[in-house]
Parts: sequence; C-alpha cells; structure tokens
Amino acid sequence: MNFKNVTIAGSGVLGSQIAFQSAFFGFNVNVYDINDAAIATAKERMATLKTTYAEYFNDADRAEKAYLSLQFFTDLGEATKDADLVVEAVPERIEIKQGFYENLGKVAPEKTVFASNSSTLLPSQFAEFTGRPEKFLALHFANSIWQNNTGEVMGHPGTDAQYVEQVADFARAIGMIPFVLKKEQPGYILNSLLVPFLTAAMELWVKDIADPQTIDKNWMISTGSPRGPFAIYDIVGMETPYNLNLMRAEHDPNAKLAAEKIKREMIDQGKMGISTGEGFYKYPNPAYMDPNFLKSN
Ligand code: NAD
Repeated sequence: MNFKNVTIAGSGVLGSQIAFQSAFFGFNVNVYDINDAAIATAKERMATLKTTYAEYFNDADRAEKAYLSLQFFTDLGEATKDADLVVEAVPERIEIKQGFYENLGKVAPEKTVFASNSSTLLPSQFAEFTGRPEKFLALHFANSIWQNNTGEVMGHPGTDAQYVEQVADFARAIGMIPFVLKKEQPGYILNSLLVPFLTAAMELWVKDIADPQTIDKNWMISTGSPRGPFAIYDIVGMETPYNLNLMRAEHDPNAKLAAEKIKREMIDQGKMGISTGEGFYKYPNPAYMDPNFLKSN
C-alpha cells in the first residue's frame, strides 16, 4: 500500500464517513474544513459515527481508537503537510471545487495524489486546476460507506494509470469493493443505471399510470429485487429528486410535474423518506418488507 497518511477535505455527510472509515482501517487521517464551526459539526458527526461503527462492526474499542486518532484542521497546508492522498468531499459546486483544487495544488506536497468524491462532476473539469493532472482522479463512495461499500475509481484522460491502481488499492484497504471505470462517465456505473431507472418510475407515477406500491411490487416480483424504485426514493430522501426535477423543469414538462407532485404530496406533508419515518412507505416496517406484499395484487 503506497498510502499511509490521508487527508479528507470537506467533513460533511460523506467526508466524515470517508474519514472515519479510513481511520477505522488504520490510516492516519487528517480532516480539513473551512472554519471552526464546520469542524465543530464534523466532531459531532464523528461522535455519531463512532457509535454506528461500534455497533455495525461489533467492536467498540476499534471505533474509539479510530475516533481518537482523527486530527482536525482549518489550514489546508497544515492538513496536507504529509499527505499521500487527499480525498475531496467539498460541496457539489463547480466554483467551490475549482477554487479548492487551485489552493490544494499550491500547498500539498508533490507526492500527494488527489481524489474527488464528486457524484456528478467529472475529473476532467478540474484536472487543470490541480497543477498535477496525472495524479488526479475520482474516488466515489456511496452514502453509509461502512455497509454500502463501493468505491468507484475513475480517471480523466490525463490520469496516470499507476495512480488509478494505487487509489483502487486504497479503496480495498479501507474495506471498499473498488470498481475501476475504463473511461470517464458522468454518474459512474451506479448512477448511470439508477438515475434513469428512478426517473422512469417517477414518470409512471406523475402520469398516473400506477401508484408507487404497484410499481414497486411489479418490479420486485418480475426481477426478484429486494426493493423497488419508490423504496429507493425513501432511502435517498425527497430533497434530491425534488431539486433534480426542478433543475430539469425548464426543458421537460414531465420533470416540472414531478417536482410539483413531490412537493405537494411528499415534502409539504413532511414525508421526506426514511429520515422522517414516512415517505412512499411508513417506517420502521415498510409494507414492501412484509412477506405478504408480493403474494397478491
Ligand atoms: P455536505 O454539504 O454534507 O459537506 C460539504 C462539506 O464541505 C461541509 O462540511 C462544508 O463546510 C465543506 N466545505 C465547503 N466549502 C469548502 C472548501 N472550500 N474547502 C473545504 N471544505 C469545504 O456535502 P456531502 O453530501 O458530504 O457531499 C460532498 C461531496 O460528496 C459532493 O461532491 C457530493 O457529490 C459527494 N457525494 C455525496 C453523497 C451523499 O449521499 N451526500 C454521496 C456520494 C458522493
């Protein structure tokens, strides 16, 4: 393993998970965020993750050790002084990421490899700002990385293949199953499949072809899948599909109708998904998990 010291930049939802996971698997982890308030929030997230990891891996000592090993910084140069790898998980906004890479390229040691966790933006959009395009690529995690343990590894045309391999090795070393893409692809593998699937399901609902439970049931019986698209919407939460449809609304009348329907029938009713105890299903015992769900219609 080429990496030992890892800096996670951006300590929000995903950054905190990547940091904790890396520490839990024995790496020296520095956490960087923009100010003391963000670091204070990060520390709260880490305390919650400590409990999650202790329970999930049934190992409170290891979780405690990982928690205590984390170092926090608001100075990017300090945070990356000895970094072998920086994993960037700053907000999904082009100008924020560009600015971040411009700064990072200046302060990080020459040896440091940079990996972006961006869900929708491509490494080629930022490569020139890093000052080291050959050592820059994407390493994309899924939310709840301790259990949804995929690591999608994706270079841009100028990434040196040896760093793709090193980052895939790192992913493996922190308990991920790495998936190396041969080319750049918006949405990687997972979202290239999932987004059109979820969009198609939403369209069936918006056009009132069938109700969400019927759509899920059909999918589950026909494919043997453990859950259908609306159960997945409940996991994702309503905010992301609402925002995505709102963005597309200008050019796509179905997206406009979808955004309106999600707002009116879900968000305004407080049905945000699992996080609020109700979305398309009620939790903690959603109907689709009832053994009788698939037995009739
Ligand atoms: P978030 O908003 O929860 O966290 C972003 C963090 O970045 C915050 O702590 C914020 O203070 C910090 N930040 C803001 N500006 C910064 C800067 N200039 N330098 C350093 N830190 C800065 O966001 P998130 O959901 O964790 O997403 C972060 C990245 O991870 C995005 O690129 C997103 O696409 C990707 N991602 C998110 C998920 C998810 O489910 N949330 C899943 C996979 C990938």
